[in-house]
Amino acid sequence: MLPDIRSMTQEEIAAAFTADGLPRYRAGQVYAWLAKGADSFDDMTNLPLDLRRRLAERYAICRVTVARKLVSRLDGTVKYLFGLQDGHCVEGVVMHYHHGHTLCLSTQVGCRMGCAFCATGAAGFVRNLTAGEMIGQITAAQQDLGLRLANLVLMGMGEPLDNYQNTLRFLRLVTSPDHLNIGARHISLSTCGLVDGIRRLQGEGIPLTLSVSLHAPDDAIRSRIMPVNKKWNVDALLAACRDYLAADGRRISFEYILIDGVNDSLACADRLADRLRGMLCHVNLIPANPVPGKTHAATGRKTAEAFERRLTERGINATIRRTLGSDINASCGQLRNTSNPPQNAENA
Ligand code: SAH
Ligand code: SF4
Repeated sequence: MLPDIRSMTQEEIAAAFTADGLPRYRAGQVYAWLAKGADSFDDMTNLPLDLRRRLAERYAICRVTVARKLVSRLDGTVKYLFGLQDGHCVEGVVMHYHHGHTLCLSTQVGCRMGCAFCATGAAGFVRNLTAGEMIGQITAAQQDLGLRLANLVLMGMGEPLDNYQNTLRFLRLVTSPDHLNIGARHISLSTCGLVDGIRRLQGEGIPLTLSVSLHAPDDAIRSRIMPVNKKWNVDALLAACRDYLAADGRRISFEYILIDGVNDSLACADRLADRLRGMLCHVNLIPANPVPGKTHAATGRKTAEAFERRLTERGINATIRRTLGSDINASCGQLRNTSNPPQNAENA
């Protein structure tokens, strides 16, 4: 198999080209084309034909295609099923916020973390995505919609810190000024709480927003819904978050899915407030999305608001997340598992 040049940094391409006797500036040209989403060396019209041919013999350019697309009639949110070259698919969602178009992208085909409420987890793990396949989701969405994405959230399918090296390579590529040049401050990475990964990430000095899927105030509840808690419990996770904060100084975002009768009592809110006291953080409360085959139900509006109010009264910054694309099930892991699109959505 040929190496995927979309996954290579500019320095790596330059080193490989130099070793092949090619001038360094050619690496810059190729890198710029890849950032623009070129899928073939033939697209690189400022390279001589014989060079394009030579490169095609030595390198592959991984291709990510739009296999299916749903557009929300409510708010224009776009949900993609991206096709990969080996026939697998991953999901992505483009949301149009006032602070810019935002892509939620996937880092793995499936996930091995097995969270009880998650459609991706239910389908099991298939493989890691390469950095090029993560970049490819961005360029495919940009080309399809004819716009530039301003923000990225690594909250699609998969656990980014379980695919640490490729995710990090992706972050280096996408933030590079000669590539897509999306600033780390416009990127959020969501993790279910892989403490070793959080500690490693802390050392990389990338000023992204760390988003931690907490979902419970204590080990009894968390272990019931998130198997990862048996390896790294709430104490270990919050200790890593405090250290991350001390090193990075940027507010951590905690995701908290509200599941009816499981983690949504006021006693849970109180325990959560106790655990997070004094931390520079924000709690995102998310009414759980129903998942076929799972029995959990979303907390009702009133209970969610009471939970939010209790956290706020206790000095914890919390908001209920606005749901976008509710007519197209715009949360990841669900499109791949269904064949029938919901009725009031445009199926392109
Ligand atoms: N693996 C990472 C990132 C992908 S999941 C993580 O777990 O953080 C992205 C977010 O979607 C997580 O906060 C996850 O807990 C949440 N999620 C998963 N299933 C959900 C559901 N049924 N309803 C609402 N949010 C869900
Ligand atoms: Fe994996 Fe995140 Fe889903 Fe858990 S919530 S199974 S970590 S994708």
